[in-house]
Amino acid sequence: MQSNTLKEFNTIVKDSSRVDVLFGFCYPSTYRAGMTGLALHIFYAVLNSREDTSCERYFRYDTLSPALSVESRRPLKDNHIVGFSLTYEEDIINLLQMLELGNIPILVDERTENDPIVVVGGPVITANPEPFVDFVDAFVLGEGDLIVHDIVDVVASASSRKDALSRLAELNGVYIPAIPKSRVGRNVIVNLDSLEYPISQIVPDVPDGSPLEPVFGKSFLLEVTRGCGHSCRFCLIGHVCRPRRTRSLSKLKELIDMGTEVTPVRKVSMIGSSLGDLDGLEELVCWSVNKGLDVSVPSLRADSVSEPLLRCLVKSGQRTLTLAPETGSSKLRESIGKGLQDSEIEEAIDIAVRSGYNSLKLYFIIGLPGETDDDVKASADMIVRLARSSGLKVTASINPFIPKAQTRWEREPQPPIDELRRRLKMVEKEVKGMAKVTIETLDPRNARIQAALSIGDRSLGKVIRAAAFYGGYGGWRRAEKETGISFLSVANDAERLQMELPWSFLRK
Ligand code: SF4
Repeated sequence: MQSNTLKEFNTIVKDSSRVDVLFGFCYPSTYRAGMTGLALHIFYAVLNSREDTSCERYFRYDTLSPALSVESRRPLKDNHIVGFSLTYEEDIINLLQMLELGNIPILVDERTENDPIVVVGGPVITANPEPFVDFVDAFVLGEGDLIVHDIVDVVASASSRKDALSRLAELNGVYIPAIPKSRVGRNVIVNLDSLEYPISQIVPDVPDGSPLEPVFGKSFLLEVTRGCGHSCRFCLIGHVCRPRRTRSLSKLKELIDMGTEVTPVRKVSMIGSSLGDLDGLEELVCWSVNKGLDVSVPSLRADSVSEPLLRCLVKSGQRTLTLAPETGSSKLRESIGKGLQDSEIEEAIDIAVRSGYNSLKLYFIIGLPGETDDDVKASADMIVRLARSSGLKVTASINPFIPKAQTRWEREPQPPIDELRRRLKMVEKEVKGMAKVTIETLDPRNARIQAALSIGDRSLGKVIRAAAFYGGYGGWRRAEKETGISFLSVANDAERLQMELPWSFLRK
């Protein structure tokens, strides 16, 4: 799809000739996905709040061109800094394609004084930047909004590309592969209340249900918490975004008031992991609903669900309860570190039924370390049991285990693709014929690619580069053959996983 007449509210267009720094904020996937993420709104607002900087957006898909900004069709290459937010490992392919289409050399070694500095951040990068070192001038580890002004200041005052990079390397949380340093810290904001927040957010002027509409609909994104107080063994966020921090209730209310004043929406999408742990979530949701706002909250932990909270959410239009049991086996759930009992999950669903919910979304993982066929069967049984007892429509999203760097299961191999398929089929067979149950799965081949990119090392650069121009799983196999680099076996090479890990230097 190509949109050259995209209308939006709250965009900022500055005269490029009157600012010192041109920043291209790039989202290496669809417009819809990029606009759903908070990072885009934060960096757009923070960068454009500077008189000396103009930040414009670029998306891989759905706009006129990935190489021209949405705001003013500014060529990607004209920017001084090109900043990518990498949320999903596989988007590295789109990132390389955007550079290529933007006429920016893909390889760091081939960039010259005339090329922008390519900066990449996000949780995936914070966990393990190593597979991507061939393509990125500067990685930002941890929370980039804490140092974005420093980065711009350095680039604005640098005498050359080399000077900019060597000064960027001195900043905490910036990793320049070409300039090794003994320790690379990550930035963590202590007090969320004190942080600049994007009050005036960009909203596309598209009809409801349009493919360009953000995932939560047209809404004001409200970041309630960062990080998570739990640390389930497989979870990236639970490990690299620690500790859990939260905004005060008074600040959150103030942001909602100010945000819905200048962002033309009547809906608030609350963002944060394990949001139900927030003291006062019920008060915040009900307060918003009583002001006539619609509210959406992400997945809740079953032990944090309460009837008054769900009743307010139903009033605000939310009718699907999202929970993540991860597995139907309580023994395995214990070993994950999830710490939820079957009875707590069942109780949460009873509350949802009483409160007027009409559907459930449940997240499961198959292929977890130590998983047996009985555990897989327990997940299928749980889906059947909950669908029958609740009478609600159930969508069960079942995804293969993906080992992630810097989690407690970073050394655990992923089961082979055929084995993952067999386990998925076991679940599908058990729920077959249940009209109210839908199963969604991630193709184990994609899980294999994600896993390799999560825990791989810098030798993968060549294969990533080749795959960027072929596409699909077949493209990765072709790239593997051409380069002679075993890519697809990275995640279940148990021996390799016992060696020193590529990201171990980040922990020193
Ligand atoms: S799975 Fe959820 S509760 Fe567990 S660490 Fe991750 S975000 Fe937190």
